[in-house]
Amino acid sequence: MSVTLTNGRLGIRKTNLKSGFEIEPFADFRSWSIASRQQGLSRRDFLRGALGAGAASLALKPKRLFAATADTSRKTIIVTFGGGARDAETFSVEGQRNIPHMMQELAPQGMFFSQVVNRGILGHYVATSSIASGCYETFDNFVAEGPANPTLFEYYRRGLQRPAKDVWVIAPSNGFEAIGNSSHAAYGKKYGAQVILPKRLLTYAAAANNHTLRDYNALLHDSYESPYHSDDAAQDAAAGKIESEEIAKTLKLSLDEFTAHSRTLSSPDELSLFITRQVMREVAPSLLFITLHDIDVAHSGAYSLYLDAIQRADRLCAELWQEVEANPEYKDRTTVMIMPDFGRDADGEGNGFQHHRTGSPMARTTWMLALGKGTRPGTIVSRPIESIDLTPTVASLYGFDTPFSTGRPITELL
Ligand SMILES: [Zn+2]
Repeated sequence: MSVTLTNGRLGIRKTNLKSGFEIEPFADFRSWSIASRQQGLSRRDFLRGALGAGAASLALKPKRLFAATADTSRKTIIVTFGGGARDAETFSVEGQRNIPHMMQELAPQGMFFSQVVNRGILGHYVATSSIASGCYETFDNFVAEGPANPTLFEYYRRGLQRPAKDVWVIAPSNGFEAIGNSSHAAYGKKYGAQVILPKRLLTYAAAANNHTLRDYNALLHDSYESPYHSDDAAQDAAAGKIESEEIAKTLKLSLDEFTAHSRTLSSPDELSLFITRQVMREVAPSLLFITLHDIDVAHSGAYSLYLDAIQRADRLCAELWQEVEANPEYKDRTTVMIMPDFGRDADGEGNGFQHHRTGSPMARTTWMLALGKGTRPGTIVSRPIESIDLTPTVASLYGFDTPFSTGRPITELL
């Protein structure tokens, strides 16, 4: 693998250990202009139809720059709508049919940011870590190591002196196990998040119940592009035994019931949402970070499966919001932010929707939907923001610092 950063040109070449595909070096991102994007979309007009006549682009007038005092009753849920979803199948005019729940239930009561740019490496693990750290991380996407820069989880816990149980990450891939904290000397594991890998938990629970893992194939299938980890289920179950036992106890999850319920689910993202609900009901953390990932089935080349996964992610986002509204620990005090980690290649570039190798504007530009506490319903922000802006934004809402983040607070949310 090689990573280069010279005069604004960032390139990476790495062969995925599982699927063998490569992320190609991408073009000089400084020469790329958002204004020159070729999609032919007016992003400002994305949601006009759904939001009605009252929808308008928001004048840039922040309510305040920083929270006056730390607000520890506030809760924040970040959902990465991944991995890799294009505008063409989501909020563009032709894509809206795939996301009826977000269009009809969530967007009208939320704020829509129509240009979220990711200028980093377009690999899911490194990109998700970059969202968490608020910096474009440059480590090997296919190695399960934590980001070099402190994460939102560490900033939050250190800045507000919060306990470990207050910050949870729910991640689809066992290779995301190191995302909960950085290797930074001043932060690190003692300030990290609790990371739940639902597949590992299910592997352990199934083994504990003497169930054959074949019965759970649809749930345990890992994504095409994730950090390398052992494919040995027995080894996974053993490695996860202690942590799985602790998690099951914390979540008051009977292994019998968990395995029985899992049989009613159809995908890893559904499993993640089930665990998320359980975390919200039993622990009610203030900061939750959920990474959906079914959409990355697109790498198989099956467009219908890619659409199915988008439709499922759309439904799961609505179910998550329903839980927020129904759960007294979360109702009226929670901001939910939903954002793809990045897009995918445009038709006519590479293999189109299948991969995200070209670094083109379609692959780099996506959207964010924010709803709940502190948001302004029915508004659209069309100025470009970056995916690394999320962490300093959340920090500003709570009133703690993110000294190593290179993103900027999104003033419209403050
Ligand atoms: Zn991918």
